[in-house]
Amino acid sequence: MDIKLYNTLSRQKESFKPIIDGRVGIYTCGPTVYSRASIGNFRSYLFSDLLRRMFELNGFLVKQVINITDVGHLTSDASEGEDKLEKASKATGETAWDIAKKYTELFLQDMERLNILRPHELPRATDHIEGQIELVKVLDKKGFTYQTSDGIYFDTSRLADYGKLAGQKLEDKQEGARVEVNEEKKNPTDFALWKFSPKDAKRQMEWESPWGIGFPGWHIECSAMSEEYLGVPFDIHTGGIDHIPVHHTNEIAQTESAREKPLANVWMHNAFLLVDNGKMSKSLGNTYSLDDLQARGFDSIAYRYFFFGAHYRVQQNFTWEALEASQNALHKLQKIVKGLPKGADVNEEYKSRFMERINDDLDVPGALSVLWTMIKDDNVAPELKYATLIKFDEVLGLGLSNLELGDVEVPEEVHELLDLRAKARAEKNWELSDQIRDKILELGFEISDGQGGQTIEPIV
Ligand code: AMP
Ligand code: ZN
Repeated sequence: MDIKLYNTLSRQKESFKPIIDGRVGIYTCGPTVYSRASIGNFRSYLFSDLLRRMFELNGFLVKQVINITDVGHLTSDASEGEDKLEKASKATGETAWDIAKKYTELFLQDMERLNILRPHELPRATDHIEGQIELVKVLDKKGFTYQTSDGIYFDTSRLADYGKLAGQKLEDKQEGARVEVNEEKKNPTDFALWKFSPKDAKRQMEWESPWGIGFPGWHIECSAMSEEYLGVPFDIHTGGIDHIPVHHTNEIAQTESAREKPLANVWMHNAFLLVDNGKMSKSLGNTYSLDDLQARGFDSIAYRYFFFGAHYRVQQNFTWEALEASQNALHKLQKIVKGLPKGADVNEEYKSRFMERINDDLDVPGALSVLWTMIKDDNVAPELKYATLIKFDEVLGLGLSNLELGDVEVPEEVHELLDLRAKARAEKNWELSDQIRDKILELGFEISDGQGGQTIEPIV
């Protein structure tokens, strides 16, 4: 079946053609591990997980790489400001290495809570310093670089098509760029490939290089690591839309100048998650993590279901009410699956309708509507419904095939009480929450409040 993907580079949907038949390489820009990843960040990884699962459903052998940025990402996406890791270290007193370790572990735990399949490779920037230095050396040799007092920079005026990903001409970009702090740069769009450690202070993360002790710029890690794990070019590069004008533009500039080949054939970008129709921001206290959702009684998988409510290229607005609606829909779906007799045969017609939607640039809202139509369709035998839903779940990843209750039917009353209890917990009404737990116990089910929210088990 034809797979169509929107390519930011060509600004249109294209039929996907793999570099090697039956295989696909996907690189996703990963987290900067200086703080807890927010549900906004996870929109990016839910999106690349969906992409991977779609390919797997189509029978592709996928290799997925997500990098861990643990050095070089400065407080400004341009090459200025403080390294986010070193800054977090100053603020907390922990070492930059410990901070990186802590947030990498949390990131992986959160990925698991969201049923995001573990990428085949999770390379860390600090483990690939040599490869990054090698790449800068090539650029140096080819005359794309120059040195300033604080580092080695890429001269963007050397590339006629610099900025093509964002559809901007260099002159427009330069005009748009804000007043430069660094007056030694030849062009405002030039960016650091290697930065020198400050003369008056010792950095925690620094390495020797042919140009002096320092650390790599942020963009070079992705050029070096994508090449190491996927080659040049590879199939698909993904990330959030904020990466288009600077980070991905600069990755392209580096790799294409060094290797004289495209970096990736398809560039895909997810739109942002808003909260209450505004930007997520630390100052507003709305950069929610999965723990914040859990504290209000929401399972992480409910957020996964919420993510499916909007196409990845459309901004999505997060509200607690919308998350609750998603959780309710998910519970309804779980209940339906639990109530169906297990079967092995799939309804081919609905499967192909579902795949048609998902293969059309990951139209998950469309695919979900096929799912609900099938559920309501009396012409499909219950055993077939079961097997088809489990097949769909290979893409959706809602865990429908291993619902903990197995064959035990949960009465409607218990479902309603569970919803009430989730609400009571969201309102921190612990007394009511405990009363409801006791009622549910009387009906034969024991509740536990784990990492993923409330789960119940029948008392035997
Ligand atoms: P960072 O850890 O800051 O490098 O960001 C990790 C990923 O999350 C990047 O691909 C960003 O584009 C993406 N991202 C950050 N904020 C949001 C948001 N509010 N909605 C969707 N994606 C986001
Ligand atoms: Zn990147």
